[in-house]
Amino acid sequence: IVQWTPFFQTYKKQRYPWIQLAGHQGNFKAGPDQGTILKKLCPQEQKCFQFLMKDILRPFVPEYKGQVTCDDGELYLQLQDLLSDFDSPCVMDCKIGVRTYLEEELAKAKEKTKLRKDMYEKMIQIDPKAPTEEEHRSKGVTKPRYMIWRETISSTSTLGFRVDGVKKADGTSSKDFKTTKTRDQIAEAFKDFTSNCPNKSHFFRTHELIGSSLLFVHDKRKASIWMIDFAKTVPVPENVNIDHNSTWKVGNHEDGYLIGLDNIASIFESLIKD
Ligand code: ATP
Ligand code: MG
Ligand code: MG
Repeated sequence: IVQWTPFFQTYKKQRYPWIQLAGHQGNFKAGPDQGTILKKLCPQEQKCFQFLMKDILRPFVPEYKGQVTCDDGELYLQLQDLLSDFDSPCVMDCKIGVRTYLEEELAKAKEKTKLRKDMYEKMIQIDPKAPTEEEHRSKGVTKPRYMIWRETISSTSTLGFRVDGVKKADGTSSKDFKTTKTRDQIAEAFKDFTSNCPNKSHFFRTHELIGSSLLFVHDKRKASIWMIDFAKTVPVPENVNIDHNSTWKVGNHEDGYLIGLDNIASIFESLIKD
């Protein structure tokens, strides 16, 4: 069960409910310094944060500010609160990867050949057709079988990620993504997450961008992209709407900006796959 607001945070004199989309209820607390939270210390995670603070990935992870011992004697990691700089944020947690257990965890599970009735019950609750005839007969499944099956009910095993939790600005949330699996189901969840998103650019919606460039810059430490050169960027006529994606026909003012962006992104993606 997810507790959405385990505590309130204060940042720049604003008080806001902190949002926790996954994990155990007792794992997080307000931090001792403004703009920080505490997460129950796991030594492996601590090692990763120490390494990450010296890695080029540093700007893309919460700032690690060391460990803290709380009054209850428990150790916590002090982390940057990623929600601090937002007003009533929409938050989505996507758990990445084709599996969510370690190889070691699978190997350990494989040592135990006992049939698990509880796991069989969980399985048929979600999909009565999932167990084999044999498993139906014995009303039990092995733990490794269950672990592997569990990754197939969401998009984890097929798409390499799953939606773990979503909270929208109006406070509403869809909590159950256990069986959100197909591209269409996920597209629906993403659409819901981004609906009423105020961050759409007014400029982009109302301008035809011709001869404009994307400037790519990187060195050994970081990389950035900027939009530049707006000499031929003009407002579209008032009665015309463009989506930067539709085929250009003389008179419709489409510029194909997003067609180009999609292709650039997919060519860069193909580099990652090589
Ligand atoms: P699980 O292993 O079940 O995914 P966990 O206990 O390891 O959970 P996390 O996944 O690290 O916990 O975080 C749980 C939730 O807490 C996230 O979904 C997110 O909502 C929130 N959260 C975690 N870290 C931060 C952070 N630094 N700033 C803001 N929110 C955070
Ligand atoms: Mg998580
Ligand atoms: Mg975790």
